[in-house]
Amino acid sequence: MKTNSFRLVLLGAPGAGKGTQAERLAEKFSVPQISTGVILRAAIEAGTPLGLKVKELIENGKLVSDEDVVAIVGQRIAEKDCENGFILDGFPRTIPQAEALENLLEERGLTLDAVLSIEVNDSDIVSRMSGRRVCKKCGASYHVVYKRPRNGNLCDNCSSELTIREDDKVEVVMGRLEAYHKQTAPLKEYYAAKGLLVAVEGKEELSETSAAVDEALENL
Ligand SMILES: [Zn+2]
Repeated sequence: MKTNSFRLVLLGAPGAGKGTQAERLAEKFSVPQISTGVILRAAIEAGTPLGLKVKELIENGKLVSDEDVVAIVGQRIAEKDCENGFILDGFPRTIPQAEALENLLEERGLTLDAVLSIEVNDSDIVSRMSGRRVCKKCGASYHVVYKRPRNGNLCDNCSSELTIREDDKVEVVMGRLEAYHKQTAPLKEYYAAKGLLVAVEGKEELSETSAAVDEALENL
């Protein structure tokens, strides 16, 4: 692997631990973690022209177009802190976005180093996520297997009843996984054909996943 720069795209199903690895790798390689979701939310909050446009789209139940997302990423990776690379998290999501990213980089004489996919069985993701419990009162989080509350279904801190977040319900998780696979399968094929795809098995233990990711990247 080239040591002077690091340009990575991260793929991973919701609940696979992608965000955690993105954060960790960004720190390890001293490059920014670029999440289009974060950029869009910040633009909306700041009320920039882009933010206003995106806000209107979302309020009308529409998706942000490939063109707009690509423009956002193009601006972001031209910034000074991306000189030595970046970790893209949540982009590209479609083949046209992947092609546009390639063009953006090519214009600068750059290429991606790798596309890292963190793979976890759907059934494991479902059992991890559906076991989560949260306290609505104080925000504490638990898991029925990995972090059990001391007293039945009550919060250790404030004894309030614990609840399952809407996003963690089995049917919601399964729906998101299905959508993820449908969307990502062509992308993985696209990057595999370019010899860029690296797949790593996401383990239950964070340290094991991190070790596997580091080893895969060292072997590039
Ligand atoms: Zn509580």
